[in-house]
Amino acid sequence: MKRSIGDITRICQKYLTQKDLEKIQKAFEFAQKAHQGQYRRNKDEFIQHSLHTALTLAQMGLDAETISGGLLHDTVEDAQINPKEIEKNFGHQISNLVWGITRVGKVRLKKEWANQELIDQKLDDRTKNQIENLRKMFVAMAKDVRVVLIKLADRLHNMETLYALPAQKAKRIATETLEIYAPLAHRLGIGEIKGKLEDLAFIYVLPAEYRRIKSLVGEKDQERKTYIKKVIKAIKKILKSEEIEVLDIDGRAKHLYSLYKKLKKHDNDISKIYDLMAVRMIASNASDCYKILGIIHEKYKPLPGYIKDYISMPKPNGYQSLHTTIFCLDGRICEIQIRTKKMHEHAEYGVAAHWHYTNKIGPKKDIEQKGIFAPKKDLGWISDLARWQEKLKSPTEFKNAIKLDFFSDRIFAFTPQGDVKNLPVGACPIDFAYSIHTEVGGHCQGARINGKMVSLDYELKNGDMVEIIKAKRAHPRQDWLKLIKTAEARSKIRGYLRKKEVI
Ligand code: MN
Repeated sequence: MKRSIGDITRICQKYLTQKDLEKIQKAFEFAQKAHQGQYRRNKDEFIQHSLHTALTLAQMGLDAETISGGLLHDTVEDAQINPKEIEKNFGHQISNLVWGITRVGKVRLKKEWANQELIDQKLDDRTKNQIENLRKMFVAMAKDVRVVLIKLADRLHNMETLYALPAQKAKRIATETLEIYAPLAHRLGIGEIKGKLEDLAFIYVLPAEYRRIKSLVGEKDQERKTYIKKVIKAIKKILKSEEIEVLDIDGRAKHLYSLYKKLKKHDNDISKIYDLMAVRMIASNASDCYKILGIIHEKYKPLPGYIKDYISMPKPNGYQSLHTTIFCLDGRICEIQIRTKKMHEHAEYGVAAHWHYTNKIGPKKDIEQKGIFAPKKDLGWISDLARWQEKLKSPTEFKNAIKLDFFSDRIFAFTPQGDVKNLPVGACPIDFAYSIHTEVGGHCQGARINGKMVSLDYELKNGDMVEIIKAKRAHPRQDWLKLIKTAEARSKIRGYLRKKEVI
């Protein structure tokens, strides 16, 4: 779909000042001139890409700097504009954002390694270089969280236009999206973008599976929609008689990729998945959420084991909501989600929603006191990032950058080939080895971290390059179970030990 600057200002004028709008307009005119005569692979004018990126950022309710950064994000990389000129016209903040994106843009994960056979000893130096680049990317992103948000919006539009690229390149980009960008969006709590990125990547990474899931869902789609409408009507009626106000209530289809992952867990049996479609309710406040849950349970029996209180116990990324699965109309099973408007916005836009509130609603202190949408621990993480970002007006050291662990409950470690492994904090080389292959885990004897030998109880750090040393005679041992953190390693070690006992 073709976009114009008017699409962006229409959204922004609801929450930005006239001065902000002028800044955005100026950024648009600058970008349009810079990209004049350039076209995208899908034959669109290049500026369309800038507009789509900025529009996503506007929909997330972000500030004028980020939206301008979105409009200008490719001017240095693709239109040879000098960063100094950006700084002269738009100031330090915006030029820093554009520069951040440009640096991140140079990083290409596993570009040369789309084919296994191209992996060659000769590539070793280049390999090291790429790993270093990837590490830089995470650090650059962590410096100013808005760089990540622009990058995600940029990636979303690239994914939407991926059909115009040669098949192999499209698949590489889609794989990277699934491995890096979707988890990143998830960690930042931006469910909306995470879901879109995954579904778009799914088409290219696992085309056959994608078609299978799509037709599986499609078959009964219409019937399901009709049913959900009936459910919504019934629930509205009950709540009205109890005089509880709901701000919004609607049906929601599950993202295809998350459905695919769920199906894999349930032996591909779609009848075991109850939340193909869920009813989502937005209530005025948290206590109303609980009241609504009570009223619904009084009328419809819940399925044991499916009641989740993520309001009092939020997910690690800050997600809050009440979930329940009930025996509903005609004895069918239906999932219900209940949350407040702020919790909902946080679920869709995560860290971006936080940004919005910090700027528009009041001082950060307020948000902390009222504990609006995140557990203390998570808020700490986000405000650390915000503070950190402020500090960056003066250059900070690389070391400091690493210190604040951006991915606080997950770490990224790399194979010598540059594959990224996403592991829980506290993971050891054995976890890493099992994440590569059962056989590598089973014969793991030691590890070299960033070139240095370590023992197997070494705790992996974010950005570590891990080389597993294997030995034929090495095998899983009972005491490994005390070291490992991943379920995968645990089940495989246990499996081995059990088998040995039997023999
Ligand atoms: Mn771009």
